[in-house]
Amino acid sequence: MSDCIFCKIVDGRIPAKKVYEDDDILAFNDINPARPVHVLVIPKKHIASLATVTADDTPVLGKMLATANEIATAQGSPDGFRIIINTGRVGQQEVQHLHIHIVGGPDPVGPMLKRI
Ligand code: AMP
Ligand code: ZN
Repeated sequence: MSDCIFCKIVDGRIPAKKVYEDDDILAFNDINPARPVHVLVIPKKHIASLATVTADDTPVLGKMLATANEIATAQGSPDGFRIIINTGRVGQQEVQHLHIHIVGGPDPVGPMLKRI
């Protein structure tokens, strides 16, 4: 996807602070961190969101989750972390390339959601 910002990071057309990379996934620091550790993990292949995944995407989705603890620990969140996957309009997804947020740091990240 030539106009996708995260595809541009995969291609090296825009810079990012990469913290993990293999053949299938890339992790980099969020440009606007919400916590001391805030890493985005993406599939290198363009997948718009969890709403558009197919059965073929199951291995890469599993890899993104299975690598999260290693990334969090290496980045300074060894005692746990939170995963967030915003999806679509209701999930308030801003970037239309599937990504997981890993948020953490030395202290608990706070309540899960503001209650209605
Ligand atoms: P979401 O609302 O889940 O789509 O989150 C998109 C995230 O991407 C936000 O936390 C942004 O701060 C982050 N972001 C947007 N552009 C960049 C970029 N060029 N490099 C790193 N993070 C970015
Ligand atoms: Zn993309």
